[in-house]
Amino acid sequence: MPLLSSLSLLALRQQLGSYVRIWEEGAFPVKAGVAVNPLLGGDVVMGIVARVELYHVSIPLPAPFYPSWIPGLPQAENRFTLIKVITDDGVIGYSAGTAMGRERAGLGEILGPYLIGEEATDIPLIQQRVREMGYLGWHNAWIEPAFWDIKGKYAGKPVWEMLGGSPCTVQLYASTGELKTPERRIEELEQRYDEGFRAAKLRVHAFDEQEDIRHVTETARVLGGKMRLGVDANQAWRVTIIADAPLWDLPRAKRFAEACADAGLGWLEEPLPMDAYEDLATLTALSRVPIAGGELHSAGLPELKMMIERKCYSIFQPDATFTGGIAQSFEIAALCRQHGLAYTPHTWTNGIGFAINLHLFAASGFADTGLLEYPYNPPGWTVEGRDGLLQKPFQHQQGKISPPDGPGLGIDIDHAALRKYGRRFFVMDKVRLAWYSIRTRGIALSREINRIKKAKKQASSTTG
Ligand SMILES: [Mg+2]
Repeated sequence: MPLLSSLSLLALRQQLGSYVRIWEEGAFPVKAGVAVNPLLGGDVVMGIVARVELYHVSIPLPAPFYPSWIPGLPQAENRFTLIKVITDDGVIGYSAGTAMGRERAGLGEILGPYLIGEEATDIPLIQQRVREMGYLGWHNAWIEPAFWDIKGKYAGKPVWEMLGGSPCTVQLYASTGELKTPERRIEELEQRYDEGFRAAKLRVHAFDEQEDIRHVTETARVLGGKMRLGVDANQAWRVTIIADAPLWDLPRAKRFAEACADAGLGWLEEPLPMDAYEDLATLTALSRVPIAGGELHSAGLPELKMMIERKCYSIFQPDATFTGGIAQSFEIAALCRQHGLAYTPHTWTNGIGFAINLHLFAASGFADTGLLEYPYNPPGWTVEGRDGLLQKPFQHQQGKISPPDGPGLGIDIDHAALRKYGRRFFVMDKVRLAWYSIRTRGIALSREINRIKKAKKQASSTTG
């Protein structure tokens, strides 16, 4: 009897395990343009958001990482919020938003009701919902790429192809993240050179201006002949929560830009606060080295459009997980082209954020001539720490990479890693939404809301 019980338990566990795998792995097969749901039978295209899940993820780094942009912080984990959106056909989309910790713990209560029941592949509608959530102060552009992931899975195409791109290989620059002496920087970049990189980004963040100038001058003197070098001053979104940080003004930025031009650098990034529009435009107009920035403008397209028209930078670096999602960031790239400016996105978040911006860059028309950021600062910031949730981390090949060919974002989540490093803190589906509504508003009001929403759906389906 005990043996029989054990066998039954084992069988039950195996059965449950296979259900879990089907659910986690997405699921139902998707063929070009059509999701096939075996439970419904035949070819069924619906794409309605049926379930939303949120996870806190913390991937431990192999060694403490000291980001130049948060002086004094020994970063031990790569933290972000993961969103998993599942349609009623079982198609799954993912995206991720970088996080300090568990600050999005209450986000589901606004996010779930705004998304459940909506058409998952209607990007303008999703953009509208993200905008509506933002009125109260939350910036959730980072969730929008999950819907491109779904849209691509329905279409059987990678996001870069949906955006009109062609297969390509992208040149990367090794993006450092820590402050170092010139000697240690040169040593570090010699290693990157040996790995195949032909471009890199330095970091400066010293109180002593001469120390910064010496850093770029010395490094460029040794490596400038064989590597294209840029430098990030991290003044755009200065953080002084732990240690103090230098604060540049226009005169200091001008002097440093002069030094960068003399040293032959390829670009100077974030030399002034992100909203110092006037000073940025002045600096960009007179600088002999291209001025770059624009990575975290959470107002998205409208603000960056204004900055492009004012030529605040020569190179715009919107990160789609902050700057309005894929749809708005793609428009920003197109505007850069129209105005004769360059575009290359910031990617320093996590593997999913890298994938999102890689697709955009590949389709932007700038991939032939430009360089894409490859966040890489061992021993702290490694590929494993950065992309630890992906079955296939983004390993560069001699300083180059090709965007994924798979549908949507072309990434596969490593579910064992998600179980290890992630904690699901929110789930909502249609039934849970109904209960949530009854609990927070009562039966009568919930019925009224339901009736009005149904009438709106009916009206839009009859008017086309
Ligand atoms: Mg930067």
